[in-house]
Amino acid sequence: MSFQSPAIGGTKEDSETVSPSELWVAGPILLFQKTTVARWFLLPRLPIICYSYCRMRYSTSFAKTNKNTPSDGDSANARFLVQAGFINQLMAGVYTYLPLGLRVLDRVKKIVREEMQAIGGQEILMPALTPKEIWETTGRWDGIDVLFKLEGAGGKEYALGSTHEEVVTPLVQQYVKSYKDLPVAVYQIQDKFRNEPRAKSGLLRGREFSMKDLYSFHLTEEDMWAYYEKSKQAYLNVFHRCGIDAIITEASGGVFSKYSHEFQTPTESGEDVIYVCDKCQYAQNREISEYKDGDACSKCDGGVMRETKTIEVGNIFPLMEKFSEPFGFTVAGEDGKPVPVIMGCYGIGPSRVMGTVVEIHHDERGMCWPKSIAPFLVHLVSLGSKDDEKREEILEKASGLYEELQKAGVEVLWDDRAEVTAGEKFADADLIGIPLRLVMSEKTLAEGSVEWKRREEKEAHLVSLQDIIEQVEVFAKE
Ligand code: ATP
Ligand code: MG
Repeated sequence: MSFQSPAIGGTKEDSETVSPSELWVAGPILLFQKTTVARWFLLPRLPIICYSYCRMRYSTSFAKTNKNTPSDGDSANARFLVQAGFINQLMAGVYTYLPLGLRVLDRVKKIVREEMQAIGGQEILMPALTPKEIWETTGRWDGIDVLFKLEGAGGKEYALGSTHEEVVTPLVQQYVKSYKDLPVAVYQIQDKFRNEPRAKSGLLRGREFSMKDLYSFHLTEEDMWAYYEKSKQAYLNVFHRCGIDAIITEASGGVFSKYSHEFQTPTESGEDVIYVCDKCQYAQNREISEYKDGDACSKCDGGVMRETKTIEVGNIFPLMEKFSEPFGFTVAGEDGKPVPVIMGCYGIGPSRVMGTVVEIHHDERGMCWPKSIAPFLVHLVSLGSKDDEKREEILEKASGLYEELQKAGVEVLWDDRAEVTAGEKFADADLIGIPLRLVMSEKTLAEGSVEWKRREEKEAHLVSLQDIIEQVEVFAKE
């Protein structure tokens, strides 16, 4: 079914045929493009439309802080993320992202996207549901023990993607025919499914989890290695921007190459163990290492290998011909003869990164988000008063500040709840972990100011209402 959209304020030629579902999206765009009236109406309101994405009144948020203990509450990230209302556990290793949590996950993904685009990655989205045949081609139907297998109509068998070499190799093969078409790098950010025997530690080991997987295709090994090195830097950028360290660590490679490289974040709560040189940072995963704690480093003079617990946040692999060979992926070389394509693959788990950031940045009261991926920059808290007039004044001033901050482009969560004590609001602010807390109360207003406290600092101080926007802007840029 389709129908004519009315040409409001335009000429007859302006009318277009659109389906009803498209109208919701296309309608406002068409209106904007085609009519002067709409343009004048929408343009001044655009900032307000945009602001609504970067603000939240906590009283209206359905998913608030709570006392739930998840079944994998052994880890800081599981406990804090659940209790702060960022994620909700459906079953072991499977979570819903609530509004605050989704904002963080999206920020991690945005950083990942920017860094992948910077090394020429072209974003695609592959299906999660995949046919058995492609896995048989590579021998991985029975080779991957965590593969989720399902049966569909007529007994047809499928797998939920745990990784996508089997999809991406024949996909790129359909378009890339000549040496002139190489190199190519494609990536996606998608949920992966793995039947992990022990899903645990909140976002660190899920059965459904977010992964960015990039695949690169090259004419020569040399070209692949050059790209591989570039990807290492892009990965370090991602982790640095998310507020965590990552040590490049040699790990098991597989049939076609001696090593792969893992990005390992040191923390006591990690389940991996690496040996890392205290001088040059050369590192090996214990699974392949001949080192033991205290051994001399073989790569530098005077360095000592230290046993360190870590979380694997990323992993890159030189695949060589491992997947191009079973799919018969060759390109025509300069002389017209077929040349096998050389591949690399590069994974990061945005959801595991989010969990890792919490493992690294928290205290006994809750999370301490780095600004780059915090759900909001400012947590504005307005307190109550026994005096009706004063209470009104606080609300009015807080509302004004809330608007002003947004106009200045600052993302702000306003705890505007009426029936909640100051103590509870402060405890919630610490748990949620937004970088800057601003408090408005009878006391601060008497001084014409608001109370300023960074999440990781103990002491608060007053900042005058006249200076507050400017100071927040400075804080945002620090
Ligand atoms: P692990 O050894 O921890 O099981 P892996 O080596 O099997 O992970 P890769 O196939 O290398 O994982 O996946 C790439 C990235 O995806 C990992 O570096 C990690 O960041 C993330 N990841 C892998 N498995 C999970 C999981 N079960 N839950 C959350 N993130 C995961
Ligand atoms: Mg790995």
